[in-house]
Amino acid sequence: MNATTDDSMRDDSTRQNLPRISRRIASIAESATLAVDAKAKALKASGRPVIGFGVGEPDFPTPDYIVQAAVDAARQPRFHRYSPAGGLPDLKQAIADKTLRDSGYSVDLAQVLVTNGGKQAVYQAFAGLLDPGDEVLVPSPFWTTYPEAIRLAGGVPVEVFAGPEQGYLVTPEQLDAAITARTKVLLFVSPSNPTGAVYGPDEVRRIGEWAAAHGLWVVTDEIYEHLTYDGVPFTSIATAAPALGDKVVIVNGVAKTYAMTGWRVGWMVGPKDLIKAATNLQSHATSNVANVSQMAALAAVSGPLTAVEEMKVAFDRRRRAMVGGLNAIDGVECPTPHGAFYAYADVRALLGRKLGGSTPTTSAELATLILEKVEVAVVPGEAFGPSGFLRLSYALGDEDLAVGVGRLQEFLSSAG
Ligand code: PMP
Repeated sequence: MNATTDDSMRDDSTRQNLPRISRRIASIAESATLAVDAKAKALKASGRPVIGFGVGEPDFPTPDYIVQAAVDAARQPRFHRYSPAGGLPDLKQAIADKTLRDSGYSVDLAQVLVTNGGKQAVYQAFAGLLDPGDEVLVPSPFWTTYPEAIRLAGGVPVEVFAGPEQGYLVTPEQLDAAITARTKVLLFVSPSNPTGAVYGPDEVRRIGEWAAAHGLWVVTDEIYEHLTYDGVPFTSIATAAPALGDKVVIVNGVAKTYAMTGWRVGWMVGPKDLIKAATNLQSHATSNVANVSQMAALAAVSGPLTAVEEMKVAFDRRRRAMVGGLNAIDGVECPTPHGAFYAYADVRALLGRKLGGSTPTTSAELATLILEKVEVAVVPGEAFGPSGFLRLSYALGDEDLAVGVGRLQEFLSSAG
């Protein structure tokens, strides 16, 4: 090594220029949905009567028999210890059984990894599949975590936008126009967060077959599988398009189906080599999911679906109230969502109009104005793709929902 190199390598001023926070992590945006929720909760804590349409979580308590399973587990010393990083074998088996029951997809225990919520499953699926520069097709509007998880893994999210005119559903033709030599994965989610859109069986099959024909992997997020309305069925792309072979990763969890967002149990189902790689990653990142939560999840996934059927009745009623209320506002267009618990309203016609003393030109500005003026929390479209939309969760009490929609109607109708 010559003296010049040696000096420059020891140069303190060069070292001072190293960023404090790594570029990779510094580029991650705060979760916009959680940010809106935090702002709304802070306002509420200070005594303001805020109505929160921001966050996506059922307002029901976790069913009793599930809580009881956790209580029983908490009393057993074996659950006070480390357990296998990839999950308790009984839970993995129950997840395999449930995947066959609900997705029609047959897997064994070695194809299951229990994760800290669906979020960690999404993260590890992309970490396990992507090398730097690999592209992932992401139908837009998209759940805000997908692009961040893709970028963290060194991948490149390629957004494919489907607007309300097409029911927020992408077509194989649109995907085809976005594919390149670097495309490795298609992200698929139905029912969708943020739009509530559900792909029909034929649409799922066509998209799956298109992906298979191009040798792509499909990461399919099935977390809202049990929340569909109007008789619209859930269709798993894993079984609708058998041509995908083993290049399918299902991500799922107990959060939405059993009102268990806080328990943090999700899973990844996929081919053995990918599951093994992701388990290795998890063994260094987080180890096993809390055993008490895993035992609660075991009671959930091996038990009945009655609780979700009851929640669905309430969600369905609220869905109709919300969509009807939103569409009654001049300048707001909200296609009827057939799944999940979100309405995705097109507010492009409202932008540029005078409202409450200001003239919002983006949905982010409009959402801020709505929170400030009428104390209703909604998430702007910018969190999920293009500006011009608002996501409203209807997973809240009927009375709050009616008050919140009433406030929106009054405020937004004053646009001129
Ligand atoms: N996928 C989608 C589409 C979601 O909306 C969510 C929760 N907002 C998740 C995955 C992850 O849920 P969790 O980590 O709470 O299991």
